[in-house]
Amino acid sequence: MIAVESTSATGGRVAVLGLGIMGSAMARNLAAAGFGVNVWNRSDERLQPFVGLDVVACTDAQKAVADAGVVITMLAHGDAVEEVVNGRHGAIQAMPQGALWLQMSTVGIDEQAHFGQLADYRALEFVDAPVLGTKGPAEAGELLVLAAGPESVRPRADPIFNVIGRRTLWLEPRGAATRLKLVFNSWVINFISSLAETIAFAEGVGVDPHLFLEVIKGGAMDSPYAQMKGKLMIEESFDPMFPLKWAHKDANLVLKAAEPAGTRMEMTKRARDQFERAMEQGFGERDMAAVFYAARGETTVAEETGGEEPGANQPGR
Ligand code: NAP
Repeated sequence: MIAVESTSATGGRVAVLGLGIMGSAMARNLAAAGFGVNVWNRSDERLQPFVGLDVVACTDAQKAVADAGVVITMLAHGDAVEEVVNGRHGAIQAMPQGALWLQMSTVGIDEQAHFGQLADYRALEFVDAPVLGTKGPAEAGELLVLAAGPESVRPRADPIFNVIGRRTLWLEPRGAATRLKLVFNSWVINFISSLAETIAFAEGVGVDPHLFLEVIKGGAMDSPYAQMKGKLMIEESFDPMFPLKWAHKDANLVLKAAEPAGTRMEMTKRARDQFERAMEQGFGERDMAAVFYAARGETTVAEETGGEEPGANQPGR
C-alpha cells in the first residue's frame, strides 16, 4: 500500500546511482519508506549488499533508470556524474522523458549548470540538490537538503527529500543550492583544518588536548562539531564519515568558485594543501579529520600500520 502511494507521488520508481557512504544510506531509507527503488553502482562490491533486499539491484545504469520517475545521482565528483549520466554508462539516454533528476553529489558551480543544461536538452526535470550532513545523519534520514529547481517539481521531490532528510531548504534560482553548499563547505574545510592544527599544537607543547576541549566546553567558542571531531583526532579514530579525499576535492571546488569574484581564499588554499599532504601520507580514504596527521609535522604514513591505527605505533601518544 505504502509502496504504491510513494511510487505514484514520484511518477515511477526511484533510481539511486552511486552506493557510496551517502547513496547507500539514501537508497536503504527510501526502500524502507516504501518507495520502489532501483540501485546501481560502478563497482559490484557496493552493489552486493543490496542483492536480496527489497530493491532492484542493477548492473547496468541504463536499466536502473529506464522505469524511474526520479533519478538520484550521489557520486564522488562532477567527472563521475558526467561519466555515469552522459559518458560511458549513458544513463541519461534511458531516462524516461519528464523524469526528475535530483543531482545530489557535491560538484562545482559550472558542473551543476552543465548537468542542468543536459537535463533541459533531454526534456527532464532537474533539481540542484546537494546535502549537508554526513554518514550518521544520512543513515538516520536526517540530512539537510539544499534544493534549487522549479516550483512545479516540488510535490514530486519533497516526498523523497522528506525521507532522506530532516529538512529541505528550497532556493532560487537553479545553482543557488550548489553555491550555498560550497559556502558551507568552505567553513567546514577551514574549521577542521584549524581544529587539527590546534590539537596537534596542544600535543606539541605538552598540553593534553582533552584539556583544550574541556576549556571550550559550554562556552561561546564551543561547538558539538569541535567536540566530536576533536575527540576523534585525539583518539586517532578515522573511520570515514566524509572521506578526506572529498574534502580536498571540495576545497578545490571552493577555490575555483571564488575566482570570478576575486575573493582571497588564503585559508582555504592552506587547508587544501594540508589535505593534500595528508593524502600523500596515505589518508585519503580515511575521515577528513585525519588532516590532523598533516598538522603534526611528522612523517606518520597510513601504510606503516595498514591505514588503521597510526597512533598505535607511536609510544606516548
Ligand atoms: P563515497 O563513499 O566515496 O562514494 C563515491 C561513489 O561515487 C561510489 O558509488 C563510487 O563508485 C562512485 N564513483 C566514483 N568515481 C566514479 C566514476 N568515475 N564513475 C562512476 N562512479 C564513480 O562518497 P560519499 O561520501 O558517498 O559522497 C558522495 C557525494 O556526496 C560526494 O560528492 C561528496 O562530496 C558528497 N557528500 C558527502 C558527504 C559525506 O559526509 N560523506 C556529505 C555531504 C556530501 P565505486 O564504488 O565504484 O567507487
